[in-house]
Amino acid sequence: MKLSQSLSQTSKTVAHDTDSINAKLLTQAGFVKKEAAGVYSYLPFGRRVLAKIEGIIREEMNAIGGQEILMPALTPLENWKKTGRDNVEIAFKPTEKTVLGWSHEEIITPLAKQRVKSYRDLPFAAYQIQTKFRNEPRAKSGLLRGREFLMKDLYSFHTTQEDLAEYYERAKQSYFKVFERCGLKSFLVAAGGGDFTENISHEFQVLTEAGEDRIKICEKCELGWNVELNISKCEKCGGELRETKGSEVGNIFDLGTKYSDAFDLNFANKEGKQQKVLMGCYGIGVSRLVATIAEVWNDEKGLIWPESVAPFQIHLISLGKDEDVKKEAERIYKKLRERNVEVLFDERNCGAGEKFADADLIGIPLRIVVSSKTLEKGGMEIKKRNSEKVKIVKADEILKK
Ligand code: ATP
Ligand code: MG
Repeated sequence: MKLSQSLSQTSKTVAHDTDSINAKLLTQAGFVKKEAAGVYSYLPFGRRVLAKIEGIIREEMNAIGGQEILMPALTPLENWKKTGRDNVEIAFKPTEKTVLGWSHEEIITPLAKQRVKSYRDLPFAAYQIQTKFRNEPRAKSGLLRGREFLMKDLYSFHTTQEDLAEYYERAKQSYFKVFERCGLKSFLVAAGGGDFTENISHEFQVLTEAGEDRIKICEKCELGWNVELNISKCEKCGGELRETKGSEVGNIFDLGTKYSDAFDLNFANKEGKQQKVLMGCYGIGVSRLVATIAEVWNDEKGLIWPESVAPFQIHLISLGKDEDVKKEAERIYKKLRERNVEVLFDERNCGAGEKFADADLIGIPLRIVVSSKTLEKGGMEIKKRNSEKVKIVKADEILKK
């Protein structure tokens, strides 16, 4: 992508109502544009980061047998009446008979009912990556808390509690992998079940000052406890707890039969007797992940994307008006693209200072500079975003790699 032509542009000014590091950096660096409280457009850089995160999540959900589906955002109110969740405060109701989905148990359970007849049809799991709507009273902290946001929600269906417990454990492990692949260390935290279930749920928390949750982490076994549970020692190992702040990037729930009761989701067991299906649900805040990564990975100059989720692999800069420099930079850009390397090419007519500052702000992992100086030294200059070291290398060496 050529920067001069991109819809993503950096800006020097910060909007006066910016309330968090992620909102400030992501807006200034051209990843998102705020449209209203808790509502954002994703510009090309931001869309690319989302796509990377979605890709990681898809791989991990497919690996635990999740089938990808897409349910509607506009859902029938009558379904929500069946579970008693029709008057939840955060629900947007665009018409008398519809609700904008803020979760999808009310859609997936009737959908499963169509498919499940006997124990032979179980277990299975299905997920979607989709926009959710919640009329959050405090839509602040940038993308950490949107009124419209992207979520991955997986639902699983089982014949026995043991089978559900086993799958729940697999989902847990796959969640650790997702967050690690996104460049984040996550902590498993026991919490209440909120509007979803009476059972304990498990949150995945990333430690950051920007996070809205207060959690206690065990110094010994690293298991966390949401402060709402009011405990003073780790209930698993007795270890000391340290209180800190976290951003909840995922949450998994044992739903029991709450939704299969509401929709009469049964299966015939081996003896031909009708039994209730057991369900689990597993959410990841996809857009909250973008914000959490931005909160964790930055310095005073801007963003520092982990390679796995960076919008581009290389930030290529050409400096000066020299025709030879322009030609060489164009040639490198073309060659890299032919090799399917994702490159942002800053070929704008502006000064070196501005180009370097923008490269640091945008935060792509590897910067390559072509100038008459680097050509004199025999090639181009490469530098990692998270290091001060610069190196001159021959263009063809890089292209070979
Ligand atoms: P929170 O406690 O932060 O309000 P929640 O517990 O209500 O979140 P869940 O229903 O568990 O959220 O949703 C699954 C995941 O979706 C959460 O773990 C979080 O990462 C993400 N999420 C929830 N609400 C929002 C929001 N308003 N904006 C962005 N992401 C969100
Ligand atoms: Mg939650």
